[in-house]
Amino acid sequence: MLEGRKIVLKYKPYLLNLKHTFHVAWGARETTPVVLVSLTYEGLTGYGEASMPPYLGESPKSVVEFLDKLEFSKLGDISDTDTLTEYLAGIDSGNYAAKASVDIAVHDLIGKVEGKPCHAMWGYDPESAPYTSFTIGIDSPEVIRLRIREAEGYRILKIKLGDGNDREIMSAVREMTDRPLYVDVNQGWKDKHHALDMIHWLKDEIGVSLVEQPMPDSMESDLEWLVTRSPLPVFADEGIKSIEDLERRKGLYNGLNIKLMKCGGLCNARKMIDIARQAGMEVMIGCMTETSCAVSAAAQLSPAVDYADLDGNILISNDIYDGVKIIDGKITLPDRAGIGIVEKSEKL
Ligand code: MG
Repeated sequence: MLEGRKIVLKYKPYLLNLKHTFHVAWGARETTPVVLVSLTYEGLTGYGEASMPPYLGESPKSVVEFLDKLEFSKLGDISDTDTLTEYLAGIDSGNYAAKASVDIAVHDLIGKVEGKPCHAMWGYDPESAPYTSFTIGIDSPEVIRLRIREAEGYRILKIKLGDGNDREIMSAVREMTDRPLYVDVNQGWKDKHHALDMIHWLKDEIGVSLVEQPMPDSMESDLEWLVTRSPLPVFADEGIKSIEDLERRKGLYNGLNIKLMKCGGLCNARKMIDIARQAGMEVMIGCMTETSCAVSAAAQLSPAVDYADLDGNILISNDIYDGVKIIDGKITLPDRAGIGIVEKSEKL
């Protein structure tokens, strides 16, 4: 029992600095705004975070406006996460990152009250957590070689494509490493024949093992044409954000990349894992550029999925939390209650 009326909510907008400029098919950026959230209950604090990459349409202002509408006292017991999720959905449509920040903080708090990590509350075996990929943005072959050298501790690389020099990038990558590779096109290919040619080349010549969001989700019939012919599994990212998207698109893609900021948090993410499994889809757990708060929350789900791309906290230079660790490329969940983080320096 977590009485809503005893909850004290605090939040603080914060700007994440990326270690390197991050290029994808639709643009480049050096910072990502987030809002850090804390919920205090009888001396215990649960932490949450909303991260706002530009393509999701949320901002620190919209997140703060959403948080200002919360009235936990109206909710009674907030440890019932289904009721909490319904309550958050009823406040406003959209605002998924804002909703995720509250959902994460509540899960962290529930874990701390029970003295258990979230993965243990759900019955997951932390030893089953997968290896994570490390993302390399679009860049010149020279810069990509540097990034690959920096990514020595990772066993899988995820390479961003879709900006024209795809073959040059992939040839440079393969010359340097024999590690397994995923590619993420971020909807960058607009022609289905080009996309299919590229996927054949990536499989046969480069040895890539999966392709994420090769074409815009809005090009539904072209995507259907491509997925039925693709020799590699095709995963959705931009195309499936929420439970509603998954219900609509589950027959189209072979797998999906679930992110807390797209779907509204851990409660919805767990439902999406179940829906995807029933539809025979493979599941990846991913993240945005985030601190160790939201990344550690997502990592709690990792024992239940096939693939993980949880490197958002590693791409920033001003993380204020310590949480999930990547040891020899494998997601290693800390033996701490809730989402498993502690504050490093700056206090919220
Ligand atoms: Mg992606």
